[in-house]
Amino acid sequence: MTTHNETVDVALIGGGIMSATLGAFLRNLEPEWSIRVYERLPEVAIESSDAWNNAGTGHSALCELNYTPAGPDGSIDITKAVGINEQFQQSRQFWRYLLEAGQLHDSSFINQCPHMTLVRGSDDVDYLRRRVDALHTSPLFQSMEYATDRDRISEWAPLIVEGRPASDTIAASFDATGTDVDFGSLTRQLLAHHEDIAVNREVVGIEPADSAWRLSVRNTFTHATTKVRARFVFVGAGGRALELLQTANAPEIRGYSLLPIAGHFLRSTAPEVVDRHHAKVYGKAPIGAPPMSMPHLDARIIGDTKAVLFGPYAGANPKFLKNGSVFDMPRTLRPANVLPFARMGLANLNLLGLLVGDLTSTPAQKLKQLKEFAPTVGDDHWEMYAAGQRAQIVKPDRKRGGVLQFGTEVISSSGGSLAGVLGASPGASTAVPIALSVLQQSFPRKFSGSWAEALRTMVPTLGVALNDEPELAAATMAGTAKALGIEP
Ligand SMILES: Cc1cc2nc3c(=O)[nH]c(=O)nc-3n(C[C@H](O)[C@H](O)[C@H](O)COP(=O)(O)OP(=O)(O)OC[C@H]3O[C@@H](n4cnc5c(N)ncnc54)[C@H](O)[C@@H]3O)c2cc1C
Repeated sequence: MTTHNETVDVALIGGGIMSATLGAFLRNLEPEWSIRVYERLPEVAIESSDAWNNAGTGHSALCELNYTPAGPDGSIDITKAVGINEQFQQSRQFWRYLLEAGQLHDSSFINQCPHMTLVRGSDDVDYLRRRVDALHTSPLFQSMEYATDRDRISEWAPLIVEGRPASDTIAASFDATGTDVDFGSLTRQLLAHHEDIAVNREVVGIEPADSAWRLSVRNTFTHATTKVRARFVFVGAGGRALELLQTANAPEIRGYSLLPIAGHFLRSTAPEVVDRHHAKVYGKAPIGAPPMSMPHLDARIIGDTKAVLFGPYAGANPKFLKNGSVFDMPRTLRPANVLPFARMGLANLNLLGLLVGDLTSTPAQKLKQLKEFAPTVGDDHWEMYAAGQRAQIVKPDRKRGGVLQFGTEVISSSGGSLAGVLGASPGASTAVPIALSVLQQSFPRKFSGSWAEALRTMVPTLGVALNDEPELAAATMAGTAKALGIEP
């Protein structure tokens, strides 16, 4: 049964952090617009944005080594780290605005949680020192500390020092301004202010219709399909975004495919562990491994539950969403993306080897990896669980055929009336700059015209490189920390 009776100004496909954030901007900018969220599952925020399905790191480059590569001459390039941090400062400012405007119920979704990096071996110890020195040249990283002294590191995170052989040369950096974010709680809070949310509604097709878009929306219970007309469509469908953009024949997506990588974590809620670990400690990814495989021992605060995670380990799951289908990938294969995908696979055999290694490692081997981080933790305090699916972008590339991309990419089509987000990293932390980028690409005139003042109220440093403004950077970070209750 098909009906054709609905029209909305804006259709947001998917009830995750990306749609929720974009919806919050649009609600403030255009209160008269009708904005509907479509979610295929019975509830919002239970895919990647759910707290347990991701690691909850408020990514701001305080601890992730992949954002500060070393050049051949040994110099450290902090450009990416500065960009990631500036983006997270925008997220904090928007959350502050929403909180003060009563559009977020409270700030319990974000907690202060120091970010640390732990390295072993003299080369990496030297690299970490140079990393911290380089970051200290930026006003965004002034609170970062560095130590090789075990007593000092033990004050920050005792579990990573206890029981470690004296022969292990280690160093750590520590930044008390880091955060743990429950993106599921944040998404639910954002959507609680949203009037029109259609759950159990799966968008199965998008087609152009007289300078707008016609969506085919399937009721997942009755299987009845409704046709809905929308002036602007945002595809925030996580791993399903590619397929939906393909149904819309968006030329910008030609040649793209996705590589699904499941994330598993060891989790402990044992008081012996959680009471003694309040930090997110990131290590170094094995050579050739993708950045998201950096091992980390990660304090989590989710509602009333305190936990410590260790991982991630890759899992065997070909789906693009945790609640997806094994046919997710076959359904997105097209003549234009098969070759780029195959070329990417051939160029990344070491990555595939690492994934297979993760898949085939025994529970004992997984615990051994944990103990390289925290040598004395008890085996029986840990359980393995499946977190979310990462759908990494495989992009066509003129020279190399196809390349694996670890970032998040905004796709904008048909003059911006159709937009979507692909990729998984840095992910939820950058939902605010991603939403801003969608607004800018889809509504360029309003963005620099009628919306400009309101946007600067919501994100005061919009358009400002905080790195070049030390006083503003310090004031912005202190102001958002106070408002969000995350002062160290
Ligand atoms: C293991 C792991 C660890 C991570 N760690 C971090 C971290 O530490 N920090 C960080 O910032 N980010 C992290 N991320 C990334 C982050 O979780 C994601 O970038 C973010 O949650 C994506 O939000 P989203 O709204 O795009 O997608 P989702 O939260 O997946 O939401 C998409 C929604 O769309 C719905 N949907 C799909 N198809 C349709 C359809 N056809 N019709 C209607 N609804 C549909 C889905 O059911 C889902 O609810 C991690 C991700 C993973 C997997």
